[in-house]
Amino acid sequence: MYEHDLLIIGAGLAGLRGAIEGIQEGLDVAFMTKVHPVRSHSNAAQGGINAALASRGDDWEDHALATVKGSDYLADQSAVEVMCREAGDAILELEHMGVIFSRNEEGKLAVRRFGGQRVARTFFVGAITGQALLHVMYEQIIKHEARTYEEWFATSLIMEDGVCRGVVAMDIKTGELHTIRAKAVIMASGGAGRAYEPTAQAAICTGDGQALAYRAGSPLMDMEMIQYHPTTLPTNGVLMSEAARGEGGYLLNSNGERFMEKYAPEYMELASRDVVSRAEQTEINEGRGVDGCVLLDLRHLGRDFINERLGYLQEVATDFMSIDLAEKPAKIRPGMHYNMGGIKADVNGRTDIPGLFAAGEAACVNIHGANRLGANSLLEAVLFGRRAAAGAVKFIREEAERSVGDESVKDSESARLQQILDRPKGPRAAAVRRELALEMDKNMAVFRDQAGMESAAAKIAEVKNKLPSVSTDNKGRIFNIDLMSVLQLENMVDCAEAIVAGGLMRTESRGAHNRTDLTERDDKNWLKHTLAYQTEGAPRMDTSPVDITRFEPVERVY
Ligand SMILES: Cc1cc2nc3c(=O)[nH]c(=O)nc-3n(C[C@H](O)[C@H](O)[C@H](O)COP(=O)(O)OP(=O)(O)OC[C@H]3O[C@@H](n4cnc5c(N)ncnc54)[C@H](O)[C@@H]3O)c2cc1C
Repeated sequence: MYEHDLLIIGAGLAGLRGAIEGIQEGLDVAFMTKVHPVRSHSNAAQGGINAALASRGDDWEDHALATVKGSDYLADQSAVEVMCREAGDAILELEHMGVIFSRNEEGKLAVRRFGGQRVARTFFVGAITGQALLHVMYEQIIKHEARTYEEWFATSLIMEDGVCRGVVAMDIKTGELHTIRAKAVIMASGGAGRAYEPTAQAAICTGDGQALAYRAGSPLMDMEMIQYHPTTLPTNGVLMSEAARGEGGYLLNSNGERFMEKYAPEYMELASRDVVSRAEQTEINEGRGVDGCVLLDLRHLGRDFINERLGYLQEVATDFMSIDLAEKPAKIRPGMHYNMGGIKADVNGRTDIPGLFAAGEAACVNIHGANRLGANSLLEAVLFGRRAAAGAVKFIREEAERSVGDESVKDSESARLQQILDRPKGPRAAAVRRELALEMDKNMAVFRDQAGMESAAAKIAEVKNKLPSVSTDNKGRIFNIDLMSVLQLENMVDCAEAIVAGGLMRTESRGAHNRTDLTERDDKNWLKHTLAYQTEGAPRMDTSPVDITRFEPVERVY
């Protein structure tokens, strides 16, 4: 058994930023990650991070308006205000920590324009922004004494009288289970993208934190809001960053037309992501696509500019498509990218479970509503990672009690894992995941309808029936990735269940939830969040009101 003041699950940007805050507050902080910290998905972020810097003549209220409009008015506006107001300080803090942001000709921090915003306020490091941020954050961590549970896998929360008091986790290297008790736990475990195939998210983004919280009684909020990014590769879902359009790239159909003129005459390629993805899918569906894709054209930017500003995209184009972006447009299409929904949390990271906090992509503080603006997520991760830790520190000082230290929860988890290892040969986790994930990509995608969502619900029921027989070939305990795949599959199934239940419940079209059978946004009945609670059977659904402070919902045009 291990014990700490604060335990953070996740070593992406949200987790590491939270850990720094806890350490600076003088707490005994530990963080856990199932991979080496800098292999967290934050590392893959390319395009940049938003902030309205007052010293540059920018206005945080305009960032807030763009975020709320981008969210199709589903974001909680008080949370958006917090994020946009504090964003400038968060960027300067990153720069002071040592992030070498790209510069403009004057030597000042350079900005590029991202979708859904009139103003260029996206700060970046070439096309490797996430990597630059995460490495600097990791450097900051290793100069302090924080216990790192690296290559450990959290399997469940320790709950005592409705309060979260730590986690049960497996040391992947030995396969042994341990209890790690803490006065507060922050879930910063990232997205659930792998419930879809293809997806731009890394193989480790399996919704573990969402599932653990859901099983412990926390609601999952607005899970139906899944972002399809407009520019992903058709074969494997790999992302071509929005920076490509931010730096002036065009989207073309098979007739060579910049079709965004029809859909978003003012913002063109830089309308918000849901709008651009729908436009692309419409072009493809109506026969103006190219091999099920549309084209991303950067040729007019010139080779030198592409190599300097978008070098990583050129690498992706070379490695995966054998093309040179200076000479040939890339075939791209909308692909699963981001989970707007997650564990319901407030701006201080508090969830509905005392002792459990959440931040980053695993959480739903609800600044993204029905559609996230590009480059708001890295901002969310660092800013709410810090805020969640500050919230947890306050909780630890004012409310937390010592855990009673009952070890039975570890024994029952151990028995559960042994039971999986002991199963006779059955279906493999990878095959079952694929079955589920292809269905999600078919019916919970850019466009949805009742029949499709019911089909997805039926598939989830079928997969749930199979779960008790999913087996492993590796029966040992040491570095058993096979066993981890089964646990991750269970987590993805729970997330998928909440995604589909939210979709079926929301009888309107809003942002990323676009129903071809109910095409209108319904502000009268649906300025509401969906909440999914786990039960033995279908999830129990509820709603909560949207917090509107200063921007009254109006029709959304770009
Ligand atoms: C390809 C790509 C490009 C992107 N580009 C941008 C961009 O330019 N700008 C932007 O704003 N956003 C971007 N995003 C989104 C953004 O990167 C993510 O939303 C954000 O980085 C998530 O950070 P996080 O800290 O919440 O989670 P992650 O970085 O995903 O970290 C999750 C952590 O949790 C750990 N973990 C998970 N489950 C367990 C478990 N069971 N036990 C132990 N540890 C566990 C993992 O090991 C990992 O350390 C991009 C996303 C992708 C996929």
